[in-house]
Amino acid sequence: MTGYSDYQLLEAVQKIAAELPMLLPDKDAGILEEKLKIILVDANKPDRVSEIVTDALKIISDYPPVRNELKAHLIRTIGLGSETRLGMFFEPTPGIGGATKPGKIMVVCPVDPSHYITQLRVKGQRCPQHNVELVPEDTILPDNLS
Ligand SMILES: [Zn+2]
Repeated sequence: MTGYSDYQLLEAVQKIAAELPMLLPDKDAGILEEKLKIILVDANKPDRVSEIVTDALKIISDYPPVRNELKAHLIRTIGLGSETRLGMFFEPTPGIGGATKPGKIMVVCPVDPSHYITQLRVKGQRCPQHNVELVPEDTILPDNLS
């Protein structure tokens, strides 16, 4: 994977900036539109393009629907690339060739849920003390209910 050029990203940001009302609730769209307008005012100055793109991506990364659409737009028009400035394109977008990222699963020791809790890393992970397979935290009822 190669990175997108500043101009490819700038073009995509400008395209997305025009589509905000379709991607966000009115209030958010208005706020983001204003922020991008201020940033993009110098977009025709070649020595500022890299800086402008970085600022725009930083703001857009706070709005997942816009970030996802920006990525989808880049993939549709240019192809799969990487944008490492913010790591935003490392996250696979559901529905665009990427697998859906599973949420964090917390698992506990079924012998004594209070002594061992960890984030599931491998399937079949075991309690180091009791050598039993860990179970998802939400399958264990709190003490006061049992
Ligand atoms: Zn244990």
